[in-house]
Amino acid sequence: MRITGTTRLAGIMGWPVTHSRSPALHGFWLDETGIDGAYLPLPVAPQHIEQALRALPILGFRGCNLTIPHKQAALLVVDRVEPLAQRIGAINTIIVGPDGSLEGRNTDAFGFCENLRETVPGWNPAAGPAVVLGAGGAARAVVAALADAGVAEIRVVNRTLARAAALASDLSMPKVVITIHSWDEVGTAQQRAALLVNATSLGMAGEPALMLDLSLLPPSTPVVDIVYVPLETDLLAAARRRGHPVVDGLGMLLHQGRPGFEAWFGAPVRVTTELRAAILATLAATR
Ligand code: NAP
Repeated sequence: MRITGTTRLAGIMGWPVTHSRSPALHGFWLDETGIDGAYLPLPVAPQHIEQALRALPILGFRGCNLTIPHKQAALLVVDRVEPLAQRIGAINTIIVGPDGSLEGRNTDAFGFCENLRETVPGWNPAAGPAVVLGAGGAARAVVAALADAGVAEIRVVNRTLARAAALASDLSMPKVVITIHSWDEVGTAQQRAALLVNATSLGMAGEPALMLDLSLLPPSTPVVDIVYVPLETDLLAAARRRGHPVVDGLGMLLHQGRPGFEAWFGAPVRVTTELRAAILATLAATR
């Protein structure tokens, strides 16, 4: 990479930001497309997020991604928030407009859907209820994505029921029923389900395992785990043994980066096996 006077700039703000795979992801695409661009890690402490975002147009940045802990706070700073991100309650991508204004988007829902449709092309949103485990930030994006895709019934299972209730109320829309369930009901919630998604942090390296009895889940139902460290979680291994189509979380991470890249750097990009291998290598190197 060579920086010139016309290099297009973008980056990711987080605190800390060193764990982020986004510089490797966008760096891969910049190399692949040969675009004169740079994507930088930007360590920004929580108390400086507003100043840092307002500095983007001043410094000539075309936008940025946001990671922990800025995804909710930034929503209150930007000038416009796309309706999907407003419903989810968080933004992860900012586009600087020609007038220097900031537009906030959430691309996690897009990433989730693209990954699911790419891995299980036959998945039909109208086939039946979806079970979503979790009610945190990622679960909100997953539920919004499923509702927008046309899933008519979404069963949300979460430890903290008040959080699930807030999700159901914020994301409710006509023709979509969102029900909430405690973990005691996780077995019955799987009955007749046409999709199961883990959107909790259970099963992630360093977190408690997710050991789920899948015996009530119809055998052809796809099982998605959005956790990507490790890539093959206990849940996916159990689902694979039972013959379910399985979808790991890495593809969601990669696809969610596409809209930002395309807006900042002006070229379409794809998620390829080479890209997956490159990002997997960075995950393995830091484990
Ligand atoms: P979050 O907002 O902190 O939510 C965590 C969720 O996990 C909550 O529903 C929480 O339940 C549940 N949970 C945590 N520990 C639990 C436990 N011991 N028992 C039962 N439930 C527990 O986190 P997030 O941002 O939604 O992220 C969730 C996971 O998704 C993370 O592993 C993250 O890496 C992954 N993720 C992946 C992608 C991707 O692109 N593949 C994108 C975003 C996130 P309570 O509400 O009861 O606390």
